[in-house]
Amino acid sequence: MIDPFVYNVDPARIVFGRGSLSRVAGEVERMGCGRALVLATPFQKADAERLAAQLGALAAGVFSGATMHTPVSVTQEAMAAFAASRADCVIAYGGGSTIGLGKAIAWRNDAPQIVVATTYAGSEVTPILGETENGLKTTRRDRRILPEMVIYDPDLTLGLPVAMSVSSGLNAMAHAVEALYAEDRNPISSMQAIAGIRALKNALPAIVSNPADTMARSEALYGSWLCGTVLGTVGMALHHKLCHTLGGSFDLPHAETHAVMLPHSAAYNATAAAGALAPVVELFGGGSPGGGLYDFAASLGAPLALRGLGLAEADLDKAADLAVKNPYWNPRPVEREGIRALLQRAWEGSRPE
Ligand code: NAD
Repeated sequence: MIDPFVYNVDPARIVFGRGSLSRVAGEVERMGCGRALVLATPFQKADAERLAAQLGALAAGVFSGATMHTPVSVTQEAMAAFAASRADCVIAYGGGSTIGLGKAIAWRNDAPQIVVATTYAGSEVTPILGETENGLKTTRRDRRILPEMVIYDPDLTLGLPVAMSVSSGLNAMAHAVEALYAEDRNPISSMQAIAGIRALKNALPAIVSNPADTMARSEALYGSWLCGTVLGTVGMALHHKLCHTLGGSFDLPHAETHAVMLPHSAAYNATAAAGALAPVVELFGGGSPGGGLYDFAASLGAPLALRGLGLAEADLDKAADLAVKNPYWNPRPVEREGIRALLQRAWEGSRPE
């Protein structure tokens, strides 16, 4: 019996494959544009400059000030660079931070966006933008925010350090695990989620043993696309809300926080969403979704404890209060006592049952 569902899909053009960076120029022209502002973090500035050189007259310039949490002040600087260079589109070259800047520009001036994705965070295929101003984070969802086209070139991920590859891969997996039990899931999103989790489960151990394994890099990037896609199409629940609270209020690092929290949020929902999470038990073993995911993360050398990310034990009460403040849908009711216990275990890094 197929449960009733509603299926929506966002438009997206995806070009995937080794060497596909060389197709950026053609994609700029295909969008009817002629002057692209290339965005990057300071760390990836040289890569962005190489891409701009490759684009020649199609490049309007490089803005390499992208940073975490998409501060509005940085977006304003980038908007000024966009106007001064008479750009007509943006190319975000990098991970979620750079992609966030491209989205923030497009939200304001509707510039067409190309993303060259170099991490597994998945932001490139979502219509979601988180921005910060005066210490406050706001999140909005709008069609204008969704990038028009994405290039996935696995060769560009060969230099992603192993620790970041692992955390970023688990961040991607968390989108898919929550998509499995999403209130508005549909057969396609569940199929994508399972395929995404499976691809990352195969690829991450191979990347840990050989970061230059091109087949594993390709499979991981493919998995991250699928996981990002479900993040963009169905609603997220406890796990993403908890990570949002921990990142926003205690300044914990994004991907690492997802990596630590995933086994614990899956354990919290294990009974209420037993059917939906069955594929996770099948893939990871361990006797339960939380146990299997924890063992997998441990085998990769992933961070396992919030205390290792700099959260003080004294902050756990406040974190629990914040996490239950605004009600939202979750397979199991979100109750303070249960959440406080979950946070304690995640802080200590103990294996969930
Ligand atoms: P990031 O973009 O902050 O990248 C971290 C660092 O790694 C940066 O210095 C970056 O330049 C560098 N880097 C990126 N790719 C590299 C590569 N291939 N080789 C070497 N270095 C590389 O990290 P992230 O985890 O991709 O993104 C996190 C941000 O994205 C958070 O702010 C998060 O909120 C946001 N995000 C948003 C969504 C969404 O849908 N809106 C989804 C996921 C993440």
